[in-house]
Amino acid sequence: MAKKVCSFCGRSEREVSLLISGLNGFICNDCAKAAWDIVQENSHAVGASARAGEDFRLDELPKPQDIKAYLDQYVIGQDDAKRYLAVSVYNHYKRLAQKKDDDGVEIEKSNIIMVGPTGTGKTLLARTIAKMLKVPFTIVDATVLTEAGYVGEDVESILSRLLQVADYDVKAAERGIVFVDEIDKIARKSDNPSITRDVSGEGVQQGLLKLLEGSIVNVPPKGGRKHPDQDYTQVDTHNILFICGGAFEGIERKIAQRLNTHVVGFNSVQHTRHIDKQNLMKYIVPQDLKSFGLIPEIIGRMPVLTYLNPLDRDALQRILREPKNSLVKQQVKLFAMDGIDLEFTDEVLDYIVDKAVEYKLGARGLRSIMETLMMKLQYEAPSTHKRGDKIVVTKDYAEQQLENSVLQEVAEGY
Ligand code: ADP
Repeated sequence: MAKKVCSFCGRSEREVSLLISGLNGFICNDCAKAAWDIVQENSHAVGASARAGEDFRLDELPKPQDIKAYLDQYVIGQDDAKRYLAVSVYNHYKRLAQKKDDDGVEIEKSNIIMVGPTGTGKTLLARTIAKMLKVPFTIVDATVLTEAGYVGEDVESILSRLLQVADYDVKAAERGIVFVDEIDKIARKSDNPSITRDVSGEGVQQGLLKLLEGSIVNVPPKGGRKHPDQDYTQVDTHNILFICGGAFEGIERKIAQRLNTHVVGFNSVQHTRHIDKQNLMKYIVPQDLKSFGLIPEIIGRMPVLTYLNPLDRDALQRILREPKNSLVKQQVKLFAMDGIDLEFTDEVLDYIVDKAVEYKLGARGLRSIMETLMMKLQYEAPSTHKRGDKIVVTKDYAEQQLENSVLQEVAEGY
């Protein structure tokens, strides 16, 4: 057997904290760790390049209807948006699968924009579809973007994020999908852009336009400390699919104006209440986005426009129970892990929906309400109940729990 020193760094047993012996030599803890890092780095590279080089065989990929069926398991309603998304993603795969020398017909990319009130499932749709995608995917928030040189992030940072999820494999990133959330927040603030600089508005739109239409972009290295000497990475955005989403609050008014519907005043709640928002959103056309403050060039680069419906009581009710990881299913599981059988009565579920509507919190509120009313039980039950016990959550109980909660106080402050 060799001398008891690390075969890699040559240090003796006394100089290291652990020396592992092999057939013909030794390795110390430090070298073992370094070796593991190298293995990891390389396995990432192999994984990512396999993905980048992966040929898309259309017959092996989920069809639009399969994609929609998958979304249906997690997202309630929003059928139109689901169909548009499914088709866009499928076409994205087709673009990637097309052979260059086929017949001169090149399928162009169709970036997509989803418009709909906040809390109706735009981000949820994006997150859900990401789970089944075969390409790198990232979500970025347009609110943090500013023109280059100002406090905030440059638009190129979007591509840094995509590179990150693609394990810095440029080829893989170049076929990825980016979801740009809150795109409405970079709408032009006024019709007269020359008075003050609009650093988070039109300038950002111009920057984003470059990415959307397809160009070669210099992406700064991310995590400066790790790659201090690394040069800018060039990323070609021609094949990157952009899905944008935004609430475009107040756009119904623009639609109504266009449709010549009778809407009076900016804050005229009484009048807006008479209008079936759901129907108005259906009529959205690119021109409405322009009146909202998106520049025509950007609108032109997002040829697929779809909308999400506001969630009504029925939808909220279904969101509570039906999705694969619905709030009810999650609570039942939490208690099942303590061996407790948890049940909600129909009345309590109705009550939760009532409160979400009353507090004007929408689907997002369902979760806060559920957490508030379950907190006491979650705290006590693991000690006070034994395995095999059953707990039924009733409306009376929920009322008691919510009565003095912060939620109630906030609601009353409205
Ligand atoms: P936004 O449209 O503002 O992006 P989100 O997708 O973030 O809204 O929705 C907030 C939360 O509300 C989601 O995490 C989800 O729990 C719930 N939710 C909203 N819409 C739906 C829906 N259509 N189906 C199921 N859950 C939904």
